[in-house]
Amino acid sequence: MAGMTTDPRVSESVENFSRIIIQTLKELSANHHPLSLSHLSKALGEKSEIINLFNAAANADHPAPADETAETDTDSSVNGKVKTLQNQKEQLLKQVTLLEEQNLEAKAFCRKSLLTLANLSSFPENSAHFHLLGRLRKLLHANAELSDLDLCLSDIKDLMLQNGANGGSSKTQEAGLLGKWLKKREPSQGRQSANKLQFKHLQSNLLSIIAEFHLDLGKEYLERFSSLQRRIRESSTIDQLLGLNGDLTSLIQDYIKLMNDERSQITDFIEEIGKSLIEMESNFMTSVSYASEAHQSNVDFNNLLEGQMEEIKRSTYIGKTLQEIRGFVSSRITSIKAALETKRQEDQRRMAEMNNEMGVLQQNLQNMRKEIDQVQEQSKSLERETLLDPLTGIPNRRAYDVRIREELQRHQRYQQSFSLLLFDVDHFKGVNDNYGHWAGDKCLKEIIRRIKPVMRESDFLARYGGEEFVIILPGTDRDSAMGVAERLRQIIEKTHFLYQGQKIPLTISVGVTHTEPSDRDQATLFNRVDDAMYQAKRAGRNKVVLV
Ligand code: GH3
Ligand code: MG
Ligand code: MG
Repeated sequence: MAGMTTDPRVSESVENFSRIIIQTLKELSANHHPLSLSHLSKALGEKSEIINLFNAAANADHPAPADETAETDTDSSVNGKVKTLQNQKEQLLKQVTLLEEQNLEAKAFCRKSLLTLANLSSFPENSAHFHLLGRLRKLLHANAELSDLDLCLSDIKDLMLQNGANGGSSKTQEAGLLGKWLKKREPSQGRQSANKLQFKHLQSNLLSIIAEFHLDLGKEYLERFSSLQRRIRESSTIDQLLGLNGDLTSLIQDYIKLMNDERSQITDFIEEIGKSLIEMESNFMTSVSYASEAHQSNVDFNNLLEGQMEEIKRSTYIGKTLQEIRGFVSSRITSIKAALETKRQEDQRRMAEMNNEMGVLQQNLQNMRKEIDQVQEQSKSLERETLLDPLTGIPNRRAYDVRIREELQRHQRYQQSFSLLLFDVDHFKGVNDNYGHWAGDKCLKEIIRRIKPVMRESDFLARYGGEEFVIILPGTDRDSAMGVAERLRQIIEKTHFLYQGQKIPLTISVGVTHTEPSDRDQATLFNRVDDAMYQAKRAGRNKVVLV
């Protein structure tokens, strides 16, 4: 305006006009009316001062027609002033519009922030805080006037001041936050930065809350968790964040349910493991019946295992977190493993001892077997000896008794006939008397040596006693038996038995008989052959007689 000529009356009018507008805006604000153009126009229209001002301006625009030239000058001057006034009016109106917009933004921000804080705050039901916040939420939802909100906020502020809301008590942490926030809404804090801070604070809170519920509880749960986390991160306004409240609540409810289900399943599972382990161990114990030491060891181990299982079962009910349960189960399993290892080593030690004992036993057994074999061999040898004649080396009377019994049985069962020979050395007493007993022994041995080649493999020769010998001829009829007897007699008769250069004359008398179908026992048979042999004696000796 420098260099511009101004009518003092016009300047006064402009000043008055500006004053009235500012005054009206203040009144509107004081009465909590919206600072809109229409409200301003309406309020100004009701003011008598503004009417007077306009009338004065109109008079100034149209003065009394006394001087035409002056009138023309005045007209151009007034037109310029009116233009200036209109410009100033337009600028003022722009400012008013800007103020109106700022006011609306501030109110919207205020409502959103208050709603966010009210939603974030939690107080015990029926508490004064709870009711006041409820009232605040209702007012915010109902889009109530700022005056009502102010009233409610000042009630909250009073209550907080009473309770030392900014004092840091944990119970009123949210109230403290609210109190701090209320302080921050001082005009010095920029609207945008405050809004952004609040949004970041809420977003960070929601992310840290949801992070608490990040557990592997199945694909479906994890997908929901990731989706919610992503939507929180991608949110750009507080409204968007608040809109996720329902999903967050639902996720937390499902988390609790899944956790409870999982805990219940783990409890059942651990109980099952416990039962299976005890059952398995019990079966194992039953199958293993060692010495009393081993039995006591098994009983101790069983008690230890049952104790561990009971502790595991109890822990699943009192465990607060899955990690605690896992930790506890892990330590118990380690303990059971250690017990199993101890038991395994004990079993190995016992097994080694048993193997040693088994080795010793087996060695003893082998030695015993050897001894038994030796004894059996000796026994057989003795038995053989008892069946043999020590002088001539041929079977003795006992052996003959056995053999004749067998032959008779065969004869009775299968009608296998046989012949029996009995020969006695003639006048043998004279040999002993003339040449000595030793010479007699030699003669007996020589007689056997001479007659053996005449006999068949199946024939059986035995010394019946003294200088009497018996021969069983299986499958040999009477005639053949007589032939054998005759050959024997002749061999002995022709043999030169020499002793100290002297020839000892020896002959034998032979009795022959053959089995009859009626023969039942050996006595009958022997009596018959004995009779035959005595007949040969009586007949002069060195004879063969068949009966
Ligand atoms: P006989 O013709 O009637 O048979 O007359 P014998 O002398 O042979 O009969 P006797 O029964 O009178 O005598 C048998 C003798 O045989 C008596 C006994 O000393 C002898 N003798 C029996 N066994 C043995 C023996 O093993 N060695 C010796 N050297 N003599 C024996
Ligand atoms: Mg004789
Ligand atoms: Mg005799």
